[in-house]
Amino acid sequence: MANITTQGIVLRYADYRENDRMLTLLTPFSGRADVLARGCRKPGSPLMSCAELFSYGEYVLYQGKGRAGVQSFSLIDSFYPLREDYDRLRYASYMLQILEAQAIPGDRTDKLFQLLIRSLKRLCYLPLHPRAVTAAFLLMDAALSGYRPRLSHCVRCGKRMSETESRLFDIEEGGLCCSDCATRDLPAVPVSAREIIWMKDILQNGIEKTTRPPEDAPLPLLRKYVETRLEVSPPSGKGLL
Ligand SMILES: [Zn+2]
Repeated sequence: MANITTQGIVLRYADYRENDRMLTLLTPFSGRADVLARGCRKPGSPLMSCAELFSYGEYVLYQGKGRAGVQSFSLIDSFYPLREDYDRLRYASYMLQILEAQAIPGDRTDKLFQLLIRSLKRLCYLPLHPRAVTAAFLLMDAALSGYRPRLSHCVRCGKRMSETESRLFDIEEGGLCCSDCATRDLPAVPVSAREIIWMKDILQNGIEKTTRPPEDAPLPLLRKYVETRLEVSPPSGKGLL
């Protein structure tokens, strides 16, 4: 079978046998791919740089018996500075775990792939606050995956709402909920006017153009929203506020 050349980024790895590693890659046009990097832990192996978390580059894959393997690799970015900043590393690891839970083998995921690469570059190289970058990642992830939050109308009755009259975000329906529709057992969390304005601004203008303070980014709300949709609770998300 012919080799396949694809961009990819390592979402997770597990050491295997003496010198190998199993990699879980996210690729733009084949979704999640589990591949074997044979011999990558041997000193001097040409595959050494392909088998670390965040290794982003061009992978040439072959189809072995039962599973694909890495034939060769050309590094684009290792996002090395993340390893020197524990705080940013935690946010970045959380993003990897969200996409690992979300990506399906064989799926076209180029938009999510680009979102991840752009978000990691922001964490790594720009002076943006990690909580705002991560909240923007989750918000755009939701929008690209077909559950963009509705922020102008009540999701239950359709009533138009301004930012100042909204107090609740309905996790199940994915948007604001008015006081008439709010019941005690509703799966809703509080949301402030500043947080609603932040989300609208990011959806319209993107994280790099916003002038809103990072404190306005509703990271706990967006974590709960996306994690509920995906039915996951990534370990690295614990304590991320
Ligand atoms: Zn309502």
